[in-house]
Amino acid sequence: MRLRHVRVLGPTGLSMPHTVEVRAEDREDRDATGLVLSPGWMDLHAHLRDPGFPQKETLLSGATSAAVGGFTHVLAMANTDPVTDRPERVQSLLARTAALPIRISFVGAVTTGLEGKRLTDAAALKSAGAVALSDDGRHAMDRLALRAALGAAAEAGLPVLIHAQAERLGNGPDAEAAAVTEALDALRDRQPARLHVQHVSTRGAVELIRAAKSDGLLVTAEATPHHLTLTSRDAAALGPYGNVNPPLRSPDDRDALRQALIEGVIDAVATDHAPHDLAAKQAGANGFHGFETAVSVVLGLGLTDRIVYRACVSRPREIIGQALEDEWILIDPNAEWTVEPSSFRSRGRNTPFAGRRLRGRVIMTVCRGQVVTERLMQHA
Ligand SMILES: [Zn+2]
Repeated sequence: MRLRHVRVLGPTGLSMPHTVEVRAEDREDRDATGLVLSPGWMDLHAHLRDPGFPQKETLLSGATSAAVGGFTHVLAMANTDPVTDRPERVQSLLARTAALPIRISFVGAVTTGLEGKRLTDAAALKSAGAVALSDDGRHAMDRLALRAALGAAAEAGLPVLIHAQAERLGNGPDAEAAAVTEALDALRDRQPARLHVQHVSTRGAVELIRAAKSDGLLVTAEATPHHLTLTSRDAAALGPYGNVNPPLRSPDDRDALRQALIEGVIDAVATDHAPHDLAAKQAGANGFHGFETAVSVVLGLGLTDRIVYRACVSRPREIIGQALEDEWILIDPNAEWTVEPSSFRSRGRNTPFAGRRLRGRVIMTVCRGQVVTERLMQHA
């Protein structure tokens, strides 16, 4: 398919309009004046709930939702039922991905059952295809256990992802700083292990990560679209729909995250897509739907094109050692739309952005040489 007059997002920003050939079977050439072609975005942090929680999401509904949202590669967390803590579970999940519209990679658990006690077999998980290790929201390990985990993961050549929180410390800003300090101390003891801090939400954690990076530690970090946009004031207005872990923070924390993203202290934007069924959400479950609003929310942050490319295309893949393949999204940067959760392809409609007017929308997603989703072009 030949796209005429399209601007292309790359490492140095947006190109001038020109003609680009995209491998997409049986598609006619088209005039793409005013549109932006970007390599597909990668989401480093998603809960696809499969196996175990089909009322919330499945691999297929999650992958379809991600494709519609503009993600062509997603990293699925291990807190499923059963937990992804054995090589054969990674293999059977990977075997199911060939039929999906986008690429999905899998995280293996750090400890059996995410219980924080017995380390999984990092090398076996890696040979089965896991690209990182994480115990997800259940960061129950103390510093010694974390140090052992970092060592085992480093020997297997895998990064360890940690949620910037420790259940036993609560979820206030000080608890986040304490959890990050503990993780960075463990990392310092276990160089050259690699640590990735998930959903950083506070200025304190940003400063700790900045200092660790300037000390040369192999640490990377991500922030979510919601923490980059919303604050505790929004949470108060959202009722149960504002429940998320870590919680929405102060305007000062949000501003610190944005600045850290611009400076590269925060490497990547990741959604922490955490779909819930209506009953669970109304009963107070933590977490937000992330896939179908992320591109628009990120474009609304006013970042330079170069930083958007780094945070959403290149750094996420570098962090888990995955190459960009034949993956493209076509964005209409001027399309305005209203977030209607009932139109989501995900089973989770638990978005904090319901009813919001957003600007910028993915109108086509191409993966493995196939157009996997396409929205009718809206010309205002
Ligand atoms: Zn998570």
